[in-house]
Amino acid sequence: MTVSMTERLYYHDSYLREFAADTLECAGDGATVYLDRTAFYPASGGQPFDLGSIAGIAVREVIDEGDRIAHLLAAPLAAGHVTCSVDWARRFDHMQQHTGQHLLSAVFEELFHLRTVSFHLGAESATIDLEGGAVDARVLSAVEARANQIVFENRPVHVTYEEAAGVQGLRKASEREGTLRIVSIDRLDRSACGGTHVRATGEIGAVLVRKVEKVRQTVRVEFLCGGRAVRRARADYEALNRVAQLFSASLDDVPGVVTAQMEAGRTAEKTRRKLELDLAGYRGRELYQNTAPGPDGVRRAVRRANAGSLDELRALAQSFTAQPQAVFVATLTDPPSVLLAASADSGVDAGQRLKAALAEAGGRGGGTARMAQGSVPDAALLDGMVGKL
Ligand SMILES: [Zn+2]
Repeated sequence: MTVSMTERLYYHDSYLREFAADTLECAGDGATVYLDRTAFYPASGGQPFDLGSIAGIAVREVIDEGDRIAHLLAAPLAAGHVTCSVDWARRFDHMQQHTGQHLLSAVFEELFHLRTVSFHLGAESATIDLEGGAVDARVLSAVEARANQIVFENRPVHVTYEEAAGVQGLRKASEREGTLRIVSIDRLDRSACGGTHVRATGEIGAVLVRKVEKVRQTVRVEFLCGGRAVRRARADYEALNRVAQLFSASLDDVPGVVTAQMEAGRTAEKTRRKLELDLAGYRGRELYQNTAPGPDGVRRAVRRANAGSLDELRALAQSFTAQPQAVFVATLTDPPSVLLAASADSGVDAGQRLKAALAEAGGRGGGTARMAQGSVPDAALLDGMVGKL
């Protein structure tokens, strides 16, 4: 059991990506490695752990254990002197997002007194949760503009060490005691933080604020900085451009063109329904003419359909029974259902007759004397019902 500590090189130089170290311990099967010094950042404070390699073996995870930092490797490592390499693309991305978070949190506070209560850095985007009021498009636009202005000013980002007892001007009070690591953005923000940051705001790159959603008592704001903002803007452009090409429109005209297209679609659907009804009317009258009256002088028509909706058959039934002495029966196999319509002079009360037949078949339903419909438990019962209607 060793009591040695891991020196955190990233505290003093977040740009260090190649370093040499000695192993303190290779624990477990040899794949959990403790070093006397490390530039690998362990997951902490919303910032994910670094990846990279130790003596050529891939680092899978980095865990802060207090005095020491555990590096979980893809394979066992023999104790000794090792050279190490931090996956710089991943780390620098985290530095951009993390410093961008300090910047955005400070600007939300400065302009609108919105306090950041938590921060999450994900693989695609990062979020901060804000407390203290509503966040609308005007707020977002103002904060985004101000944050980018401070990026353009390329203000220095400093790290200092101060005693917790005497520390002043922190955006968020620290609960830690002893020496605090203070990360400052010149003339804007002072925060106690153990994470890795860029050395000046210009390196954050463009700051892009996106989705906003209410999460319980807070407002969650999604943002992307630097490389992520550029990649996202490119993906947004390509998606929007595909839509624009479909409509042969310019990008800026897409919202208007899509709105007009949706309205045209709704109008066409209304027209289609009206024509469907008109057509059912013609079909009903034609069916009536082609149906010979029975001995009682009543024309009976039966329609059987496999699937669909009884509503589609209602228009046909209405039209058929708008003629004198007419009875119309329709069945649907899936779901098993039946419809009965009768003209006023047919001597048939559709509601009563269907109800009686449904009761016998164990079905449910009802309606008026002119039109009734119901469902039965099994399609096999439908033929038997038709004979009774
Ligand atoms: Zn930080």
